[in-house]
Formats: sequence, structure tokens, C-alpha cells
Amino acid sequence: MNTQPIASHFINGAYIEDIQGQPIDVIYPATGDVIARVYSATPDIIQRAIESAIQAQIAWSSMSGTERGRILLRAASIIRQRNDELSVLETYDTGKPLSETLYADATSAADCLEYFGGLAGTITGEHIPLADGNWAYTRREPLGLCVGIGAWNYPTQISCWKAAPALACGNAMIFKPSETTPLCALKIAEIFIEAGLPAGLYNVVQGLGDVGAALVNDPRVNKVSLTGSVPTGRKVYAAAASQMKQVTMELGGKSPLIIFDDANLENAVSGAILANFYSTGQICSNGTRVFVQQGILKAFLARLVDRLDQAIVGDPQNLKTTFGPMVSKRQLDIVLNYIEKGKAEGARLVTGGKAISGPGYYLQPTIFCDVTDEMTIAKEEVFGPLMSVLTFDNETEVITRANATEFGLAAGVFTADISRAHRMVNAIKAGTCFINSYNDAPVEAPFGGFNMSGVGRENSKAAVAHYTQIKSVFVRMGDVDAPF
Ligand code: NDP
Repeated sequence: MNTQPIASHFINGAYIEDIQGQPIDVIYPATGDVIARVYSATPDIIQRAIESAIQAQIAWSSMSGTERGRILLRAASIIRQRNDELSVLETYDTGKPLSETLYADATSAADCLEYFGGLAGTITGEHIPLADGNWAYTRREPLGLCVGIGAWNYPTQISCWKAAPALACGNAMIFKPSETTPLCALKIAEIFIEAGLPAGLYNVVQGLGDVGAALVNDPRVNKVSLTGSVPTGRKVYAAAASQMKQVTMELGGKSPLIIFDDANLENAVSGAILANFYSTGQICSNGTRVFVQQGILKAFLARLVDRLDQAIVGDPQNLKTTFGPMVSKRQLDIVLNYIEKGKAEGARLVTGGKAISGPGYYLQPTIFCDVTDEMTIAKEEVFGPLMSVLTFDNETEVITRANATEFGLAAGVFTADISRAHRMVNAIKAGTCFINSYNDAPVEAPFGGFNMSGVGRENSKAAVAHYTQIKSVFVRMGDVDAPF
């Protein structure tokens, strides 16, 4: 596959290049080879992206929701037809195995476009009857120009999770992918044009944090949706707040996964694997603090290690591979550093713990047990294949410990006692909870975090509130009474 894009940016319906920008090499995580080069957006590129988006949004917002939705549905259908090609590109961009990307990336983007394409025609205001025959009505109006800034773990999915609701609600979007994974969003931009989206409504600009910051600080931008880390979220939220802009913040987590001794062990082990090793552990909602009830610790660890032995680590383009490399050398080093901290602070390494020699950024799936709440690996987001196993005795204790975090993105509980399961999720402070499951993210359900894990929600009907503003219109049917 030729992974070099025609040009770095996609603005006003066409590729555009400006080699005055800082070059960014795109590296294939499985080999370390440079597979493409893009250039960071210059002020001129940013200006063009903003101007064309503002211009295009005027006509777009006056179309009916059904007309807008039809275009999104067409884009979804093209994405489904090209799933193979888009999945291979996602694998080059991120290193995630094709056995995942074929099912979890372009398909998730298409789901989201179908959902919001269908919803677009239903976005309405309400009629509010008042005294004396007067009445008011509300209009749900678009915000205008939205900026989407993505993380590197799900570049195709993130671009559509932001674009689909934004466009359905009548906005334009400028999307800045992570510099680590700049390729996939450009393909989405091409597909939108092919589907009939008017030029300028979905522009992609490349760049580092400074390009994101320039977009966030531009007074013509009305809303910012960021998927990224908490430190970046703090900066972006503060910049947006200074101009009173709307935000959606999808940030990091350190989510608890709680396994009771009455749980189906095999399912609990599967849940723990999904919660820690899918996408080589690079998922924001991962349940990386695995609390196991004391009595089943031995059996749980034994089965977990057995199952991990079955992971097929290797070439992500090989369909048999189930565990790929980390996204970058930088991320590999971050995780290796956490592994060293885990050892130094007294956690017991059960398996893994080492980088795999050879080309690419491979790391063994790693499990620590005897982890305590104070250890760094139990407190900080690692964003890699490192599972921390902690033990607990009872429900009250584990709820307190599960909630003792600044984050609040997700949580999971495995138990056969359904009353207990609901008691637990009621008490847990997290935006997304799983009962006898982990990491499902259907577009129909809201996704987002409590506390430091975020602001606002993506997906579902809830996202409409974050991409529209309400206008109230008062209508008087009789004469106007004034004091003089
Ligand atoms: P970063 O926070 O480093 O970057 C996120 C994006 O923000 C990148 O595109 C980055 O650009 C950009 N950026 C950086 N600084 C600024 C700034 N000052 N103003 C505007 N934009 C800026 O996150 P990562 O890419 O490393 O992704 C990993 C993080 O994302 C993890 O913490 C993870 O938990 C979180 N995440 C959250 C998800 C959720 O839905 N809650 C889902 C997936 C990931 P550049 O990369 O070019 O520096």
C-alpha cells in the first residue's frame, strides 16, 4: 500500500501542501520505518482551513437535517465498502493488528455516521405554551465552526466520532489528528467529498500541539472537542474558557475492574484481557486497576497467564496476530519506565515486563500483582499493556478504593450477584460502567468521563447537546402592555 498521502492537509475539498511547515515523519510502529512525511500546518494553511469552513457552514446549516443526514449515510456506506483498505491504513498509522482494525475502526466510524445521519432529521426544538395564548419555541442551532483534536490510538474512529455529530447538527469541522497518526483522517476527508459533502465542511490540518493551540485560540472557532491526555485537556479547556467556547473533553483514566469471587472466572479473565491488552493496552477506558477478591486470586492469575500465553505477538498485517507493537518509541519508553517503577516500588512481576528485541516497538504483555493503592502504577495512567492486580476483601472496601482516583472514565464489575452489580455501579464514580463485560462502546450509548476524565459526552443523543445551542423565541399573540 502507498501510505504517502497526496499532500499533508485537506482543505475546501482538496489536498493542499505547504512545505514551509515543520516536517513530520510518519513511522510504522511494527518496523520503525518511515512510511510517509507530512508537514505541520503554517499560519496560511490554518487561515485557509478556517475561512473555507466558515463559508461552507452557512449553506450547510440551512439544509434540512434529513438532507445532511443522507450525505453522512452515503459516507458510511463508502467507508464500509472500503473497510479493508481503511483498516490496512489504520494498521500502518497505529501498529494495531489487522485482526482488530478490520472490526473496530472504520466500522466504528461508519456506525457513528449511520447513527448521526439517521438522527440529523430529528434534531428539533420544542413548543412551550404560555399564559394568555402566548407561546415560545426553541430552535436547536449549530454552534458554527468546531475544531476536533485527536489522540493517536484510534485515528479513524476519533475523527468520525467528532465529525458525525458536528456535521449532523449543521456545523463545520476542522480536524487535527495527532502528529503520530496523521494518515487516516485524510482518507475520511476524501470519502466525505465523494459522498457529496460540500467542500470546506470537513477540513484536516496536520501539526503538533501548537497547531491545535492556534485553532483553539482563534476567536472564529466556536467549539473544541479534544481526545487526549489530562494535561493537554487542562491547557485546551483553559484556552477555550478564556473565550467562553463550548468544549468536549475526552481525557485519560485509571479505571477499576472489580472481580468478585462468585464471578464466572473465564469471563472475568476475558474481561481483564479486553480491559488491558486490546490495542496493546492503548485505550483510555482500560480497566488497569484489576481488583480481585482475595479467595480467587491464585486461580485468576493462573488462568490469566495461560490465556496470555496464547497471544500471538507479531506482524500486525498478519491476520493471525492478536497483539501488535506500541504506537511509538516514545510510548514504549513511557511504559518501560512504569514497569521499572512497579518493580522498584515492590510490585511482583507475574509475566512480561520486557521490550521485545528486533525492529518495531514491541513490548511483552505485562502483569504485576501485589500492587497497592499507593504505587505509581496504580495511580497514574500508563497507556500500554501493563495490568496491575490488587486484592480486596469486601464490597465497601473496594468501592472506596476504586473511587480513590482523580479520574472517572470507566469501571467494570464481574459478579454473579446482579443486585450487587447494580449496587456497585451506583456507587462508582465513572462515566461508563460495565457489568460482566468490558470496553464496549456502542454509538447508541453516551461515552465520557467524570472528574478529571472529561467534560461532555460523545456518541448517542447526548452528543447533540454538545454540538448545538438553544435559542428561545417568545411569541406574543396580543397587544403589548407597557408602563407608559
Ligand atoms: P495528548 O494529550 O498528548 O495529545 C492529544 C492531542 O492534542 C494531539 O493531537 C496533540 O497534538 C494535541 N495537543 C497537544 N497540546 C496541545 C495544545 N496545547 N493545544 C491544542 N492541542 C494540543 O494525547 P495523546 O495523543 O498522547 O493520546 C493519549 C491520551 O489520550 C491518553 O491520556 C488517553 O487516555 C487519552 N485518550 C482519551 C480518550 C477518551 O475518549 N477519553 C480516547 C483515547 C485517548 P500532537 O500529538 O501533535 O502533540
